Amino acid sequence: MIPQSQSKFVCIECGESYSITERRYRCDCGELLEVIHDLSSISSDVWRHQVDEKRGEVAFRRYLDILMPSLESDAVITLNEGDTPLYDVSEEFASDLGIELLLKHEGMNPTLSFKDRGMVAGVSWAKNLGCEHVICASTGDTSASMAAYAACAGGMKGIVLLPKGKISQEQLVQPISYGALTIGLETDFDGCMKLVQELTAKHAIYLLNSMNSVRIEGQKAIGIETLHQLNWKVPDWFVIPVGNAGNISALGKGLRELKKLGIIDHLPRLAGVQTASASPLYKSYRKGFTALVPQVADATKASAIRIGNPVSFKKAVRELKYFEGVIEMVTETELMNWKARIERVGIAICPNSAVAVAGVKKLVDSGIISEGEKVVVLLTAHGSKFSSSTMGYHDNAENRYANQPVYLPAELAAIEKVLKL
Ligand SMILES: *Cc1c(COP(=O)(O)O)cnc(C)c1O
Ligand SMILES: [Zn+2]
Repeated sequence: MIPQSQSKFVCIECGESYSITERRYRCDCGELLEVIHDLSSISSDVWRHQVDEKRGEVAFRRYLDILMPSLESDAVITLNEGDTPLYDVSEEFASDLGIELLLKHEGMNPTLSFKDRGMVAGVSWAKNLGCEHVICASTGDTSASMAAYAACAGGMKGIVLLPKGKISQEQLVQPISYGALTIGLETDFDGCMKLVQELTAKHAIYLLNSMNSVRIEGQKAIGIETLHQLNWKVPDWFVIPVGNAGNISALGKGLRELKKLGIIDHLPRLAGVQTASASPLYKSYRKGFTALVPQVADATKASAIRIGNPVSFKKAVRELKYFEGVIEMVTETELMNWKARIERVGIAICPNSAVAVAGVKKLVDSGIISEGEKVVVLLTAHGSKFSSSTMGYHDNAENRYANQPVYLPAELAAIEKVLKL
């Protein structure tokens, strides 16, 4: 038996701590919690050697003693998430950017988004606690992931609350096919999130949004695995799209812990990127990280980050300050053009991921990212989850990188004419 006391919940504001075995998402003071582990038995050299030896194991198990040491390895419910590719596209974009550009493609996970990294932790923990019902609000990817892992867990019922008409068809079909109770509501994500909090406060249903700090522990694996792929050589920047701000918080926490353990010798900087239609964190950053002013988020192609009231705002700000972080903002045209450009080199990315790439370009242009620096962009979901916005882009010849399909009669001559043969 692993002593459960190795991990506890600690309030990010008042420092109060709670048992990790409680079904708890907030401190009594109302603030978010984080999971703190006793990592004192880890020695950096031994650990680095151990994780090399465990390359054949699924990522969450490989790094389990940093991610969630209170969970038995056998209790992990996995769909073989992780070990996603890290593409080097420096040469392809050298003349535009003049940096070393690496893309960590989290869209290559089982449900095609990075949310699987958190769900492997969250659903395994839910099962460990004996929860039969799990719930989340979602902009499309969390619900897909939770439903898949709940199905994999066996005997666990997933319930998803979605903003009706505001997620892609491919995202909507995922929880339906995995057998979750799929509820579309006449509201936005923030409205769904509010109801999930009310429901889980009243009933014994386990909440699996990123305000559940166990999920954040699973998401730390993205940064850790990237560093492992880089042989623990720290890049200058990690750049990431920001919605509810759970992922940037997880990235920061994981990297801080690696540094503290001596597994890496210095810290990278962090950059979060939002769209003009949902930019509460950007607005706060521009004023020196003033308090969050929630907004109603407007429609954007980057629908997974259409969030006006980010739950993990305070955690994100804490990490951004610690990592000398910045927040950038991009327009719809910028993000869709960058999506097309990245796809032209053979990597299918979603509009949300493209927000981060477009952000890199702006940060290079403004001199915040310097020439020659090494930049890792976290791509958060696969392009194939967003076919309608992709098709819409290519169907319109006005778009800069549009590749319009050609429709012809089934005749050799017609094709030859188009080929100019
Ligand atoms: C959830 C999600 C995000 C945003 O992550 P947060 O933790 O909410 O900031 C970005 N991109 C995609 C594709 C997502 O599914
Ligand atoms: Zn507190």
